[in-house]
Amino acid sequence: MDYNLLADLLFPNIDKSPDDYEKIYPERDLAEGAKVTRLGPSPTGFIHLGNLYGAFVDERLAHQSGGVFYLRIEDTDDKRFVDGAVKIIIDSLRFFGINFDEGAGLNGDTGAYGDYTQSRRGDIYAAFAKKLVREGKAYPCFLTEDEIAEIRSKQELAKQNPGIYGEFAAHRKLSLEDVEANIKAGKPYVLRLKSDGNPDSEKARRIKVEDAIRGTLEMPENFQDVVILKTTGIPTYHFAHVVDDHLMRTTHVVRGAEWLPSLPIHVELFEKLGLKLPIYCHTAQLMKLDENGNKRKLSKREDPELSLDYYRKLGYHPATVREYLLTILNSNFEEWRDEHQDADIDEFTFTTEKMSNSGALFDLNKLNDISKDVLLRIPAGEIVEFLKAWAQEFKPEIMYIFDDKEYLEKIIDLGRNDKKPRKDLIYAEQIVGFISYFFDDMFVIEDDIPTEVSDDDAKEILKKYMESYDHSDDQSQWFDKIRNIAVELGYAAKPKDYKKNPDDYKGHVGHVSTVIRIALMGRAQSPDVWCIQQIMGEEMTRRRITSYEI
Ligand code: GLU
Repeated sequence: MDYNLLADLLFPNIDKSPDDYEKIYPERDLAEGAKVTRLGPSPTGFIHLGNLYGAFVDERLAHQSGGVFYLRIEDTDDKRFVDGAVKIIIDSLRFFGINFDEGAGLNGDTGAYGDYTQSRRGDIYAAFAKKLVREGKAYPCFLTEDEIAEIRSKQELAKQNPGIYGEFAAHRKLSLEDVEANIKAGKPYVLRLKSDGNPDSEKARRIKVEDAIRGTLEMPENFQDVVILKTTGIPTYHFAHVVDDHLMRTTHVVRGAEWLPSLPIHVELFEKLGLKLPIYCHTAQLMKLDENGNKRKLSKREDPELSLDYYRKLGYHPATVREYLLTILNSNFEEWRDEHQDADIDEFTFTTEKMSNSGALFDLNKLNDISKDVLLRIPAGEIVEFLKAWAQEFKPEIMYIFDDKEYLEKIIDLGRNDKKPRKDLIYAEQIVGFISYFFDDMFVIEDDIPTEVSDDDAKEILKKYMESYDHSDDQSQWFDKIRNIAVELGYAAKPKDYKKNPDDYKGHVGHVSTVIRIALMGRAQSPDVWCIQQIMGEEMTRRRITSYEI
């Protein structure tokens, strides 16, 4: 068979060769050690935590090394293209502080290695495919679905490996005339790789790949004649990956562990095309603990926290999510953070070696804990700005709370500068709920007065409280007054006295102050009452106490 003729028959209009593309997309002129990474999402409109997790690795590897991080749109599966998806990808990642240097963008591409959208790279794939055909390494296969199903059932019966390979790859041997006749007859065909691999696992060559996260991977070579161009001429993921990552000069391919099984295919494709393998970084799957304490993969259907929208809607600060991702990405991050509490997160040196290669456990409680620490490091003014941007998008009805920024900053800072700072703030929605009692429009009575306090006593407590109230009292003067009220009404001045002799008292000073707390804030639990009153001001304090109805 004259493969040149076959190549021209299959690709009559392709006149550029891979060598021509080598010249159009030369090696990048970057400093030694600079890494080139990419994110290759499908434009489905759903961008999830896994994407962010991978993007974070890409971004850190590139930007820590003075390299390039680019966006490539992998839309070869055209059923899944959603309008506006590119914007969703770019905006969502930008929100979390991840920015691309190059690639697909809202106003077209930036960078010299485009086109960065796979559906527009048809001629490039065809040029590489044509080369393989010319060299007898790929061939057209006209097997119909039914024929393939028949092959599969035979293989099943004979307990053989399923797939198109070796003796089952019937169309490897088609003559040029047969191919020509089939094409003339309009029969659809795919282009398959002519694999040299041995299906007999005993005799198969073992390939070794150095993975930057997992170390040396050893696996049997590929033996399947995998499809590289579909009947539509559109490349499969395998082929597009090899061609694109080569021509775009990707140095590090960061992708999910779900691609590990197809790695041998990629190795063979790189070999057959005479190209150098990039460095692979196969990241761990994101897992969570289910109700029974078992690890399972995060799933789109069951776990709303897989969607990035989840974090935006609830109003997690992007710095929190970044901090959390680093915690699960690099095992030495938490230790570093302990030693560098105020350092910018980008000062941490991220490495693939410290990444886990078994499942990365995602835990919302841990995220919340980290958020409390991260927010503590962010000045109140910035938190207010962040809350405002969040409210504008997700809770416009509370925009009035930003009219008095000074008031809001004081509220946010409540207890944050104490020796043992309060860590009450987690995410915007929770924060708004937490501070809502500072605003009359959101104020509601949530808790009941303690059972130790009768209604009459409660009335009396509030009455006496107002009689003795002096807004200029300092904290200890203020508390002395509450203690006096407690004692006057038969409550112990100290909780421990009450605990020791419960029959001697109606309750203790804590129960008395809880009544005040509920009248003021509607809640039995809150930060320090005196501090809250100082922020609320005398008018609001008096109004709340006097209007509380028992
Ligand atoms: N388009 C592929 C995906 O969405 C990208 C995998 C890769 O990064 O190579 O899974």
